[in-house]
Amino acid sequence: MAALASLFVLPSTASELQRFEAVEPHMGTLVRITVYAPDLPAARTAIASGFARIRSLNETLSDYTADSELSRLTTVAVNRAVPVSDDLFRVLAAAQRLAVATDGAFDITLGPLTQLWREARRTGVPPSEAARAAAAARTGFRALHLDPKARTVRVDRPGMRLDVGAIGKGYAASEALAAITRGGTSSALVAISGDLAMSGAPPGRSGWRVGLHGLDPSVTAVPQTIELTHAAVSTSGNAAQHLDVAGTRYSHILDPATAAGLTDDLTVTVIAPHGLEADGLDTAAAVLGLSRGLALVEQQPAAAALFVHRVGARTEVQASTRLTALIAAANGSASR
Ligand code: AMP
Ligand code: MG
Repeated sequence: MAALASLFVLPSTASELQRFEAVEPHMGTLVRITVYAPDLPAARTAIASGFARIRSLNETLSDYTADSELSRLTTVAVNRAVPVSDDLFRVLAAAQRLAVATDGAFDITLGPLTQLWREARRTGVPPSEAARAAAAARTGFRALHLDPKARTVRVDRPGMRLDVGAIGKGYAASEALAAITRGGTSSALVAISGDLAMSGAPPGRSGWRVGLHGLDPSVTAVPQTIELTHAAVSTSGNAAQHLDVAGTRYSHILDPATAAGLTDDLTVTVIAPHGLEADGLDTAAAVLGLSRGLALVEQQPAAAALFVHRVGARTEVQASTRLTALIAAANGSASR
């Protein structure tokens, strides 16, 4: 099994717990799970439970496979309320809350458009105006209806396609961590590319050290790293996936208003108790842009965020109120 083949022991601080780490491909990316465990069998069990949860969530939430629960939903639920799994309902409900809060800037019904732009990134050829308009006509979060009491979903437009790529990895990271915690391992980190979820601190440390940004060291307003426990961290930006056309860089994050990728160079990192919140919020804030995105984050009682906006050679860095407080608290505990 890949997980076990790639599992290795890392040197740890003085403690009866040792650090174990394994990497497996899931959700179209590499997933790294790190645990502190007393021995190899305990680490194997903990890590396997995390990967198993991610594998099963991918079967529910993937928009890359036609037979996932998510992909099937928009064909079986046209004008008909269909019961869905708890996982799918939680993700859809969180997504719809964000769609309302952002007036549709965040929208998981953009599937037909995200698929079009995914193909464009593969071929290097941007979609035509006509193709974009046809895809946009099959989108709209108001055509997706959830019934929280019955846990059912209905769509009232045929040809819709859901894409929870903006929120699913964060959810999966925190859910994998919860599975590891339930098994009795209290210090672990799950990293699904830019989506991290962490539980208790490694032995002898005050938290897991997480990179906040990759700016040059002359930017001193915000530290490069922060130590966190019991949190999720998610980063959204166009560093990894984009399409360059005639000098313009289009992000994989789409602005529903233009039916095209964002062209602003904005990276948003969100810290929140659960990845469902952190991952949704980073994308929502990125689409809204710095000032409206920051306002959205400030409205969430448990979220903190860092915005890094590059315009030409200039970089503007903006921390939310809660992040500034977190940094001050970390500095305070470091100097004690
Ligand atoms: P993230 O990396 O978390 O920002 O998620 C990016 C992914 O979210 C994209 O690859 C698309 O699958 C999806 N997406 C793109 N634009 C939007 C949007 N405006 N609202 C919701 N999901 C989006
Ligand atoms: Mg996201």
